[in-house]
Amino acid sequence: MGLDSYFYELFEGLPRQGPGDNESTKKALHMIRQLPATLNVLDIGCGSGTQTIELARNISGTITALDNHQPFLDELDRRASREGFSDRIRTVNGSMFSLDFAKESFDIVWSEGAIFVIGFERGLGEFRPLLKPGGYLAVTELCWIKEDQPREIAAYFEAVYENLPAMKNVAGNHECIERVGYELIGSFTLPESAWWESYFRPMEAGIGRMRGKYPGNARVDELCNEMLHEIDMYRKYSRYYGYVFYVMRKSG
Ligand code: SAH
Repeated sequence: MGLDSYFYELFEGLPRQGPGDNESTKKALHMIRQLPATLNVLDIGCGSGTQTIELARNISGTITALDNHQPFLDELDRRASREGFSDRIRTVNGSMFSLDFAKESFDIVWSEGAIFVIGFERGLGEFRPLLKPGGYLAVTELCWIKEDQPREIAAYFEAVYENLPAMKNVAGNHECIERVGYELIGSFTLPESAWWESYFRPMEAGIGRMRGKYPGNARVDELCNEMLHEIDMYRKYSRYYGYVFYVMRKSG
């Protein structure tokens, strides 16, 4: 799928740019213990920052929110200002492929719905040096949650992940976490409501708006059909895959 201006226009209108909900953000945060009272946090691929704001509500300290799409960061700045967090949330336009931060400077690195961009294993490896010794990494990643997937959904994700490492199951990701140099604290699957309420339902509304605004535009039609297909796949096969929150602690 091309990341053109239509794609961004659709995603800029959504409350989140991927599945997730505040309850899950808090649940993952509460799995983290043994940290100083004031934290230095990095949120990678923050998008318009729903989880960044939720983190700010639940911790003391500062959050650096990184994304490579400036309109998402502008929206996060507006939200932060409305919530009175402007002095605690700093947005940075940059790429997760070249993280230009001091080594061992963060207590927590957070990344919801974004580590797939660099790949789970590579991301774990490249985020690790930024963590202080014993620091925590919390990420969500799409994975298989049930075996013996029907051909239709297996083929769908083979195509989606064509140029990326194949989608793993939860055990495969646990194994990867230990191998890269973390201790697994815990993992849980996001509820299906985290897909529908803050992602797919607003997406359906956004598709309606885009079609109304660009009638007969072939690229908009293609984009909308791809998104509707993604929603259909989830409606049909949600018991086979999900977004899983992984909370881990830097070891060694
Ligand atoms: N965390 C947000 C957004 C997830 S969508 C949420 O859960 O709602 C993935 C995000 O990664 C998008 O905001 C996208 O702009 C960002 N992204 C894509 N490539 C990136 C890169 N190379 N570096 C940093 N961010 C990137």
